[in-house]
Amino acid sequence: MKNIVETLKTLKLKVTPARIAILEIFSISDKPLSVEIIAKRMKDKQINQVTIYRTIESLVSAGIVGRIDLRRDAIFYELIDEHHHHHIVCTKCGLLEDFETCQIEEVSKNIILKSKKFKMIQDHSFELFGICNSCSRKNV
Ligand SMILES: [Zn+2]
Ligand SMILES: [Zn+2]
Repeated sequence: MKNIVETLKTLKLKVTPARIAILEIFSISDKPLSVEIIAKRMKDKQINQVTIYRTIESLVSAGIVGRIDLRRDAIFYELIDEHHHHHIVCTKCGLLEDFETCQIEEVSKNIILKSKKFKMIQDHSFELFGICNSCSRKNV
């Protein structure tokens, strides 16, 4: 993310210390983060978890942050950036890998053609769950 303040202004969001701090954390992380992880990383900023949660949700509503369900005990979030991608998650250790091949939009077109109840698809989420190399070796 180039300039956080500019980004917030473009989105017509009020520039608050919490929004700046949270977007900073997202922009330097290459992994999805939970509210708890973000709270730990900004301990020094005296911003409580409820505020952090609300701030993240405001960024979700603005379309700059996306929610990801990694089937863990918390919701994870990450920046919606230019390169569209999805995740493979190890169900044993939680290891995460990104992948960019995505044919969902093609699939959605066919689904929407057949659907009697839906007019259009606006967005999608797609995560894959499996076993990573190192966990598969431990099992044998
Ligand atoms: Zn694993
Ligand atoms: Zn996709």
